[in-house]
Amino acid sequence: MKSVKISRKGESRVESGHPWIYASDVTERGDAQRGEAVRVLNPKGRCLGVAHYSSTSQITLRLLTREDRTLDRSFYFGRLRDAFSFRKRVASECEAYRLVHAEGDLLPGLIADRYGDYLVLQLLDQGMDAAKNTLTECLQELMSPKGVLARNDVPVRKLEALSQEPEVLAGEIPDRVPVRINGLTLQADLKGGQKTGVYLDQRENYAAAARWARGRALDCFTSTGGFALSMAGRCESVEGVDSSPDALKTADANRRANGIENVTFREANAFDYLSGLALARRQFDAIVLDPPAFAKSRANLDSALRGYKEINYKALKLLQPGGVLVTCSCSYHVNEAALFQVVAEAALDARRTLRVLERRTQASDHPIMLTVPETLYLKCLILEVL
Ligand code: SAH
Repeated sequence: MKSVKISRKGESRVESGHPWIYASDVTERGDAQRGEAVRVLNPKGRCLGVAHYSSTSQITLRLLTREDRTLDRSFYFGRLRDAFSFRKRVASECEAYRLVHAEGDLLPGLIADRYGDYLVLQLLDQGMDAAKNTLTECLQELMSPKGVLARNDVPVRKLEALSQEPEVLAGEIPDRVPVRINGLTLQADLKGGQKTGVYLDQRENYAAAARWARGRALDCFTSTGGFALSMAGRCESVEGVDSSPDALKTADANRRANGIENVTFREANAFDYLSGLALARRQFDAIVLDPPAFAKSRANLDSALRGYKEINYKALKLLQPGGVLVTCSCSYHVNEAALFQVVAEAALDARRTLRVLERRTQASDHPIMLTVPETLYLKCLILEVL
């Protein structure tokens, strides 16, 4: 195995429990090639572990193990077996879940989602892309899937100079895979849907929202309808709004497949739609806000915070005392404290007094590592208007 040397600063980051080493902390690349597994050496030449090397990304090294060992089939098999057995503990009743959550499963650069008999991978760096056949073999041995798909159409792969073309790695992938999630049947569009088909990270929040919702409900940024359909059983009526016609087609198919009649889906810009509802003096008893990540990087944090404030303000205006707001942010750069602050500012402007009912995060099959803050990205607050 080749070796790559890092600076003292890079070493201290490794010591802090983080697996990423930035280009600026790499002092000698040797002749490491794209996607290779390399030994990571501190300035004195001591081995700190083994990492995947990226020739193009600002994250040059992603540490996979702190042992000095080869990344062979048995290494990957062990990590995947551990990931699978963790899901048996936290998502045993689910047909669809995140099987591998990258750093959260000590496999930086790899996402794997299970939809019944099918697996969808996201190979996010050169190292995982190079390991795709080994990963597929291990997953076949572990779970005998009928098909394994690599959803390569993810923007971060551009930073790795990797292709954007989805690839079937094994078996066959049907156009739609129905999966049972919290007692609902949802259609997963594995090849073309947002993310890998379904927003699996919101699964536990669907159930929480359903526990508090009642009366007339509104689900903004509904995508394939997860929140709206989960709340239907508790509510008189639910409106779901999204700007994506494709997602809404799946949402309505999901509605029909579950025999739900009190949910309607509408294609609209949520910001404009909320303004229209205020003009029409409409009122709701429960509103869900699950917008896309407004803060894609730290650079646009300010405009992102303005976006979160505006959407929360508009929603709060439609809620009366007793109303419930479920407000989410999947921007890593907006932490829970920042979300609290913008929602508080929105509430003051809208003259609403809010009590926190629940502070929530991503579903537990998306594990959070204490020393890797990036693994905690989803925040979900459930609030009550007093
Ligand atoms: N709540 C969904 C996930 C939402 S993801 C679920 O649980 O499945 C964010 C969604 O916002 C995407 O479906 C995207 O199409 C939609 N979107 C993005 N910008 C929008 C806008 N301005 N108005 C309405 N929808 C928007």
